Amino acid sequence: MTGRLRVQALLSRAPRTPTWCGRSPEDAELRFVDARRFGWVAASCDVDSLPEVAGLGPDALAELDVDRLRVLLAASGAPLKAFLLDQKRVAGLGNIYVCEALFRARLHPRTPARRAAGRATQLLRGIRAALRIALANRGTTMRDFVDSEGRSGDNAAALLVYGREGKPCRICGEPVRRSPEAGRSTFYCPRCQRR
Ligand SMILES: [Zn+2]
Repeated sequence: MTGRLRVQALLSRAPRTPTWCGRSPEDAELRFVDARRFGWVAASCDVDSLPEVAGLGPDALAELDVDRLRVLLAASGAPLKAFLLDQKRVAGLGNIYVCEALFRARLHPRTPARRAAGRATQLLRGIRAALRIALANRGTTMRDFVDSEGRSGDNAAALLVYGREGKPCRICGEPVRRSPEAGRSTFYCPRCQRR
C-alpha cells in the first residue's frame, strides 16, 4: 500500500521517508520507499523458501487455475471480498483488483466463498481480466502510485467500479455503491452483482 519500488541513478537525492536502498553492478540504485511501513525486505538466494513467501497462496495470474480456485472457494466460509484479499489463499490481489474482479464475475462481495465454488470459472476470468488490463496500463494511480521508472499508471480510467461510487454502472446504469467489507472500501453494482 503506497509503497514504491524504484530503479534510478545512484547519485539521486537521499530519501526522506523510510527507505531501503540496494546497488546494482551497473551503478543503478534500487529503492524501496515504504512510507507506511507495511513492507519488508529480505535477502535470500532461495526466495521460495522464505517463510513469508512459502506461506502465500497461488499467484493469481501465474499459478491459479480453475480447479485450484474451486477447491479453495469450497473450503472457505469467508465472504468473497475477504477471501480474495487474503494472500494466504490467493496472492497478488489488492483492494482495487478484488472489486474489479468481482464486478467482472458478477459476484457480490458478501457472497460466502463456498457458495461461489460453482462459479470458479467466471471468477478466475474476472481476476485475470482485471489484472491483465491493469498491467497493460502500468497500474492504477489514484493518488501517488508510480511504477519502477517513476511513471504514473493509466489504469484509473479503465476501472469499472472502483472509485465510482454514485456513478452509473458501465453495464446497467444503476449507481455504483460503496460499502466497507473486510475493513476496506468495496465498490459494486447492486444490480449486476446480486447476492
Ligand atoms: Zn450494473
